[in-house]
Amino acid sequence: MNYIDQHMHSSFSFDSEALLEDYLRATDNLIVSTEHLDLEDPTVGFIDRPLSLPDYFKTVDLLNEKYHNRLLRGLEVGWSPRVHERILSILKSYEFDLILLSLHHNGEYDYMNRSANLERDPEKLIPTYLDLLYQGVEAMGQHVNVMAHFDYGFRVVHITSQQLEKYGKRQLVRLFNLLIENDIAFEINTSSIVRHNNLELYKYALDLYLECGGKLLTLGSDAHFVNDYQRVFGDAVEYLDSLGIEHLTYYIGQRPHLVSIKSLLYILNNHGCGCFFVSLGVELYQYKCPIYLVVRTTGLGKYYNRIEITLKEKRLTKLVDVKR
Ligand SMILES: [Zn+2]
Ligand SMILES: [Zn+2]
Repeated sequence: MNYIDQHMHSSFSFDSEALLEDYLRATDNLIVSTEHLDLEDPTVGFIDRPLSLPDYFKTVDLLNEKYHNRLLRGLEVGWSPRVHERILSILKSYEFDLILLSLHHNGEYDYMNRSANLERDPEKLIPTYLDLLYQGVEAMGQHVNVMAHFDYGFRVVHITSQQLEKYGKRQLVRLFNLLIENDIAFEINTSSIVRHNNLELYKYALDLYLECGGKLLTLGSDAHFVNDYQRVFGDAVEYLDSLGIEHLTYYIGQRPHLVSIKSLLYILNNHGCGCFFVSLGVELYQYKCPIYLVVRTTGLGKYYNRIEITLKEKRLTKLVDVKR
């Protein structure tokens, strides 16, 4: 798909082993990795999660020599009041293409730390989490481009969209107005939807964001593995189109660029979904197969379920089952 996934991690993040080069091999498009900057993380006794930005920038430069400058530089800032000044001084020292703002913990525990004594009462959890997220956007508004996974606090403690409306609508409206004032995009995080079953929360929040007049939307897979790059983007784009949304946004040099949803749909319906090709690329790479020359789709459905590949040197045709 001709869209740059706006949220993914590589081995420069503490919780991923995926190689940047493998992402580059899996697509012909530009890519951006958004590595974790999580300072004084309560999960590990308030020490910094490792991230060597000098090494990251050096590696990106080296890979860009080999891969025609296809690799952009990104960061996922895990904000908390206690590290605010440290974050700002780090951001001053580097130039990124994309900066995500995330709220991963409340100063006591990470919202996804199942072994912590998590607040489970929706009436308390929802407004306190959303208020803290608001504080983060207010503090970092000038420096970031996208608010990532608005539902991070509700990935482990599940809440319903009715509870979100009942206990969080006022906070969400306030939050979305602040995003709009600051030109910060709202992220649709497909990992939240697929892995953490929060589709209904996204549907509710997205309607509210649009009602508030929001226009900047990004899609992010939050991939920590190459196979998850652009996961379910085809379905997401179809859904956004059904709501009458016209554009997705991506960032280069922290400047927004718009891509038309209709053009993404056209590519999807005529050439298959990018994530199929990512999966295929990885598979071929693992088999040490060289370039594939011809890709023919078979199986007529809305989405292709089998893809026929003719390999240049091996002169073989292989049918690969492709999962949606
Ligand atoms: Zn995150
Ligand atoms: Zn992430």
